[in-house]
Amino acid sequence: MTQRKLEGRKALVSGGASGIGEASARLLAAEGAAVMISDIDDANGERVVREICEAGGVAHYRHVDVTNRTAVRRMVHDAEATLGGLGILMNNAMTNPSADYTEDQRWDLMLESGLSAYWAAATEAAPILARSGHGAIVSIASIAGARLGIDFASEAYSAAKAGTIGLSRKLAKRFGPSGVRSNVICPGVIETPRWRSPGSPEPQFARRYRQMAPLGRFGQTPEVAKLVLFLASDDSSYITGQDIAIDGGFTMAFRFES
Ligand code: NAD
Repeated sequence: MTQRKLEGRKALVSGGASGIGEASARLLAAEGAAVMISDIDDANGERVVREICEAGGVAHYRHVDVTNRTAVRRMVHDAEATLGGLGILMNNAMTNPSADYTEDQRWDLMLESGLSAYWAAATEAAPILARSGHGAIVSIASIAGARLGIDFASEAYSAAKAGTIGLSRKLAKRFGPSGVRSNVICPGVIETPRWRSPGSPEPQFARRYRQMAPLGRFGQTPEVAKLVLFLASDDSSYITGQDIAIDGGFTMAFRFES
């Protein structure tokens, strides 16, 4: 039998009730990690945890709204206490506010959930991750924050994601000496429920993306989860401070209009 990559490890996944977070929580658990999922979607969060446990894994769910920084910090200590330690932090949840909010409100919600919460969770968790002896922070940014002023990404979204990349590099520098690694994943379009929510981009942008990405398709959540697993495990033990695009080649390719 092959050795599971995360046997005995403990992981906290924000936004684990759906999409990239859900697929990652499932894979981390399948590879032996005890997982705590946090989210505001209690029904789906409980479902994911139940299914992980039914498959023989260890998982817990907590309702945590990542727009509340105090709750984010509390979540880290809750995870440590519940799991008996913490070695992996996946910063993934981000609010996608609907058009019902004002532009100011949308800016605040996106920056708070998609950047400030990542900072609060990481800085709160770092000493705990260091004690595990194999600490890893994996944050989810986007190609919208990495290389491009992408048409369908709002200014707030792009700013939060670009900020996440800068934050992750600083975390890598600050906590590297205590053995904690910090890396960022920049997905292109990944097929998740986000693409069906009210605040999501128009279908024609998605179509255009598919035309422009050399691999000619959207990504799937298990493909991102495998990268999360790589960055969370000892397979990437000498990699820190990096941002890695997983986008079917979209940001690499350039095409003249025909
Ligand atoms: P998703 O909507 O499938 O999942 C996001 C999860 O976060 C949901 O379960 C939701 O309930 C939760 N969430 C939302 N607001 C929250 C809050 N305030 N507190 C706690 N939880 C909250 O979306 P996804 O596509 O899996 O997105 C996950 C991450 O990946 C996000 O940071 C997103 O920006 C990023 N990303 C996604 C794509 C893509 O194409 N899907 C591309 C680039 C980056």
